[in-house]
Amino acid sequence: MSACFICNKYAGDLPASNLLIYEDEYVYAGHIDRDGQPNYLGHMMIDLKRHAPSLADMTMEEARSFGMMMTKLSRALKESEQAEHIYAYVMGDAVPHLHMHLVPRYPGTPKEHWGPNAVYHWDEAPMGNEVEVQSLCYRIRKHLENVNE
Ligand SMILES: [Zn+2]
Repeated sequence: MSACFICNKYAGDLPASNLLIYEDEYVYAGHIDRDGQPNYLGHMMIDLKRHAPSLADMTMEEARSFGMMMTKLSRALKESEQAEHIYAYVMGDAVPHLHMHLVPRYPGTPKEHWGPNAVYHWDEAPMGNEVEVQSLCYRIRKHLENVNE
């Protein structure tokens, strides 16, 4: 086992492979997993496969794949899940392995709950259980399969 949470996540059997939406040579993308706790629907994560800490450390091939995934997932969240805006951020303070969060904002979210963390604190935030998250992942995968680039 590596000391890195993200490397471990993908080592051997994927623990939450039904939350995985896309994988290529360079990146994984999927829905976040909160161990059975309700999830904010559509909170996605793009993980670089290689253990590298930041956006600044990607090769151009990795960056191309990573960037395309940002756009494809964001577009899928809008077209399939009716998100009106997508927040994107890289923190990396806790886990120094590049991963980007994509957090949709849905129509009707009050202005005081705008922002990638604040949306979580809206009483009517669209939270979902495991089954709902899996259905969302299924819809996004189907959407990605069916769109022309
Ligand atoms: Zn790692």
